[in-house]
Amino acid sequence: MSFPWTPDKWSVRMAQWRRNLISKFLMRWYAGVMPEMSDTEAEAIEAGTVWWDAQIMSGRPDWAYLRALETGKLTQAEQAFIDGPLQELCALLDDWQIESELHDLPRPVWDMMIREGLLAMIIPTEYGGKGFSALAHSEVVRTIATRSITAAVTVMVPNSLGPGELLMLYGTDEQKAHYLPRLASGEDIPCFALTGIEAGSDAGAMTDVGVVVEREIDGERVLGIEITCDKRYITLAPVATIAGLAFRLRDPEGLLGGEEELGITVALVPTDTPGLDTGRRHIPSGLAFQNGPVRGENVFVPMDHVLGGRDHIGKGWRMLTGALAAGRGISLPSMSCAAAALSALSCGAYARVREQFGLSIGNFEGVREPLARIAASAYLIDAARKLTAAGIDAGEKPAVVSAIMKCHATERLRQAVNDAMDIHGGKLVMEGPRNYLATAYNSLPVAITVEGANILTRSLIIFGQGAIRCHPYLLDEMEAVRNPDREEGLKAFDHAVFAHIWHDIRNFTRSFVHGLTFGRFAHAPEGAGALAPYYRQLTHASVRLAVISEMALGVLGGALKRKEALSGRLGDILSEIYLLSAVLKRFEAEGRQAADKPLLDYCFEDGLYRVQQRLREVIRHFPGLHWRILLSLFLCPLGQHRQPVSDAVMNAAAQCMLEPGGARDRLTRGVYIGEGDDPLAVLERAFAAIIRRDELLKKLKGAKTELDEAVSKGVLSSSELNEIRGTEALIREALLTDDFDAQAVAAASGADRRA
Ligand SMILES: Cc1cc2nc3c(=O)[nH]c(=O)nc-3n(C[C@H](O)[C@H](O)[C@H](O)COP(=O)(O)OP(=O)(O)OC[C@H]3O[C@@H](n4cnc5c(N)ncnc54)[C@H](O)[C@@H]3O)c2cc1C
Repeated sequence: MSFPWTPDKWSVRMAQWRRNLISKFLMRWYAGVMPEMSDTEAEAIEAGTVWWDAQIMSGRPDWAYLRALETGKLTQAEQAFIDGPLQELCALLDDWQIESELHDLPRPVWDMMIREGLLAMIIPTEYGGKGFSALAHSEVVRTIATRSITAAVTVMVPNSLGPGELLMLYGTDEQKAHYLPRLASGEDIPCFALTGIEAGSDAGAMTDVGVVVEREIDGERVLGIEITCDKRYITLAPVATIAGLAFRLRDPEGLLGGEEELGITVALVPTDTPGLDTGRRHIPSGLAFQNGPVRGENVFVPMDHVLGGRDHIGKGWRMLTGALAAGRGISLPSMSCAAAALSALSCGAYARVREQFGLSIGNFEGVREPLARIAASAYLIDAARKLTAAGIDAGEKPAVVSAIMKCHATERLRQAVNDAMDIHGGKLVMEGPRNYLATAYNSLPVAITVEGANILTRSLIIFGQGAIRCHPYLLDEMEAVRNPDREEGLKAFDHAVFAHIWHDIRNFTRSFVHGLTFGRFAHAPEGAGALAPYYRQLTHASVRLAVISEMALGVLGGALKRKEALSGRLGDILSEIYLLSAVLKRFEAEGRQAADKPLLDYCFEDGLYRVQQRLREVIRHFPGLHWRILLSLFLCPLGQHRQPVSDAVMNAAAQCMLEPGGARDRLTRGVYIGEGDDPLAVLERAFAAIIRRDELLKKLKGAKTELDEAVSKGVLSSSELNEIRGTEALIREALLTDDFDAQAVAAASGADRRA
């Protein structure tokens, strides 16, 4: 005879009670507050993977993982390509000629880009592409963008949405075998057409339709689709030979034997298909890259043109978000890094070369402030670019991280280029071949808008998706609530919700304790040494984010989606922690260079202050006084103590740009500098001359000698004297701007209007 209350039976009984007495009620409450999701949103949530973002949202990031992650490693073939053909291509790029004279890339540039496989970097070698890693792809785009934005955009599109990426992810074997070699060889130039007049950010509003029909072709009945569309803003459309076209598919006659409304579908349509109209051009922010509408009326394509085949009918949106999950972490962030590095390089040199009131303008703190901001932004976004590429190369498709990168890299780009314009004054207001930043400046609205407009990405996507996707238990709970098998659902819910409760108890306690000690005892990885305080501050920020996210989800539930201002601020905290963790990774990976320390410090002081500001704003706008009090108690029981970047750190960061050395070299590596009268080469020569002149003048000062007597007194050699005297001419050349014949200007602007 066995005793009825054995430990096993007891625990089974306890689990039943817990399920029936607690979890059942929690589940009912949960179903009420759970955010409602449209199909489009649900598909976006499911796209891609979660990665380092999930670690950050957990409240206790695994620093050992981050430190062990390999970043910045190129294969020999990739490095050889960057050192060889890429430099040759850059030498061919003349930005002024492209933007203001040809309004297109010159033929030899197109030919070289196609010949060298630049439009097929992501296509595997077995199809004739370059099969580059995400890092190599990113390095190439970054270098080209320092020379020509139009060339960079032209390279970016086929290597992003494509449709090369879509074909590789979802194409049928026949489609891959047919199109990928043609895309790799340049026989086909692709474009991807999603956006229409009604459908911008909201693809669900699309009115372009495809109707399933049968047509008689050469005496045979062929099942296919008649597409009617009016797409706009499509990059490469005017020169494309193949378009990935998204539309709503309908089957009114039931020819496929299913429902009438089949959803968003993508087809591959050769642009010479009768009825399809391409070739007209938009002029995007005055830039020369090819962009235009794609219009079509009853354009017939056989059924096998559906990307991915019949199985993928209606899955167009899911496919697009899946492809974007990685792509948008590379393309625009690489372009942003290029322009930020170019701004840092040119502003550092110009602030030294340009003298006003008898001093280089780099001596004035008013100028040093934006200069430091540019330098720190360039350091930070390049660090994040490399970290993101490493994640993608490790097999991740990090949807939330890609959204963070797209939005925040382009926002920092906007700030950096605007700062650079301020520092240069009239020198960069005047357009012409001598203006090395005009195109980057003109491209700002493009970078902000494409691949997910920034306002939407910040306020809806980053936290909206991050909070659900990166949460260790939330998706399991949501799935359990939706489970039609109620008993199974309850079991799964009970399991997830109690793990969730323990997770919260730990995080709330840690947040409170770290709040009392200002994060001084938060977790730092072994071996962090002098960097331990930086890790601790990020761990503290991460646990605060976990707590405030939990509160936002628990209190607001589905209503959080409509509270975009709150969601945007929470997304900023997540983004800031991601960017700062990338900065730490970079600093460590580059060997903890002492010269870069001011940049690290600037990023941390600025980033942690931003986190604090956003936390403060979230608490202030959180609905309900009692919740606000509770949040303050758990997040900052002794108040918030961070200050904006100190003047000492700001001055030190600016100084990194004002003199040659490791910090400047590392920050501006990969910026293409031409030869001869290339404006950047002219500026760099003047910069080098000024540095040398200042060294020689120090000698003079030390010897208390006048310049005219320096040679006779043996303080300077005659060649050194000539160097000093030659500096003036080099400075003058670097300061020059362009002017044009008045009639030529009138003629050119008339030609622009007719174009
Ligand atoms: C130069 C250029 C190249 C492009 N290339 C391509 C291409 O190759 N293929 C292609 O298919 N498309 C392309 N696009 C289209 C691009 O993807 C869209 O412009 C983008 O999706 C935004 O759509 P929209 O311009 O209609 O803006 P709208 O959707 O009208 O948005 C206007 C503003 O409202 C904001 N907004 C919208 N909804 C919300 C919301 N719920 N919450 C908060 N804010 C919101 C947006 O962030 C934006 O700031 C290109 C666009 C440009 C400018």
